[in-house]
Amino acid sequence: MKRLPGRPLITLSLPAIAIAALVLAVRVPLARQSSSQAAKLPAATEPIPAVTPFVEEHAHFDEKDPAGAVRSAVAALGRENAAMIVFQISPDTFEHPGRYDAEIILSEVKKHPGKLAITGGGGSLNAMIMKSVATGDAGLEVQKQFKARAEELLREGVIGFGEMTAEHFDGFTPYQAAPPDHPLFLLLADLAAEHNVPIDLHMEAAPQDMPLPSDLMSPPNAPRLHANIAPFERFLSHNPRAKVIWAHLGSDFTGFRTVELDRRLLLAHPNLYMEIKTDPDAHGKTYPLGFDGKIKSDWLKLFTDFPDRFVIGSDQHYPVPKDADKRWQETILLFNQLPADVRKKIGTENVAAIYVNSVASFLRAAKN
Ligand SMILES: [Zn+2]
Ligand SMILES: [Zn+2]
Repeated sequence: MKRLPGRPLITLSLPAIAIAALVLAVRVPLARQSSSQAAKLPAATEPIPAVTPFVEEHAHFDEKDPAGAVRSAVAALGRENAAMIVFQISPDTFEHPGRYDAEIILSEVKKHPGKLAITGGGGSLNAMIMKSVATGDAGLEVQKQFKARAEELLREGVIGFGEMTAEHFDGFTPYQAAPPDHPLFLLLADLAAEHNVPIDLHMEAAPQDMPLPSDLMSPPNAPRLHANIAPFERFLSHNPRAKVIWAHLGSDFTGFRTVELDRRLLLAHPNLYMEIKTDPDAHGKTYPLGFDGKIKSDWLKLFTDFPDRFVIGSDQHYPVPKDADKRWQETILLFNQLPADVRKKIGTENVAAIYVNSVASFLRAAKN
């Protein structure tokens, strides 16, 4: 606990009432400061680790300092009780200055096998999809280049394709949208199935064509969103051997990613998985935690009804930004409330089942 700075005693011979007023004026703000600090201090200074190990399956990094980001992530493992951290590449477009892909950090990540891993394609495959949407060209030559780039990333050592997007609001990277059953997404599903690696997909839910939610600005976002759940289901059915992780459950900015929608899709598509993310600075419109921090009963029932289909993907950036609350912490406070058998699956077993060629062997090796 931080101590508040001491205040000098008031000893001047002022009338008693004036002294009382002064003391009150000093104490009230101090008391307020003190109680708000007391509420925040435990999370800020003493992180609460996961009660059992977990794999952080969706994290980002400072691309301007890859070595520093890797140091920060490795240092976080023990503090969080994370068995591994998987970096994702933010979905981006060719027009966005500063676009990058896995190569920017891959050599640093490879220095920590079994502790860190990375997906790829957010800065290239995803940009190719956005370009193809804009030009309307998804012809054979475009498909050939797309396949070559995907295979190059795999040869270099990425463990999946991510972070891809089909509907992404303006943020670190620009507004982006593409039909999830676009020919290049279908090709990506075939490549993911062939190489047995997953696809990580960021997609705000829009069950029907709809205006942009009124709390978001256009521009930079599009004024209308296209229905994407039916095309998403066509993408999932296209190649049932392709494992697809729908990112950011708990970070829903349209309000349509409900328990009911998630349940229906999980029932219909055995190749669909979901990442849990709870951001204390940006609650989604269908947030799994109540004001008391407890998991809402309908979400808890979803997690326990489909224990094999969820992973932890808090979207934490490394190094952890100093001015933001910790996404990993809030997500782990949810994780810690899960029943022990479900927690074990969501923590490590499901990630191992999804990433059979990479995370699974790392976790096995760590056990032996
Ligand atoms: Zn995302
Ligand atoms: Zn992300």
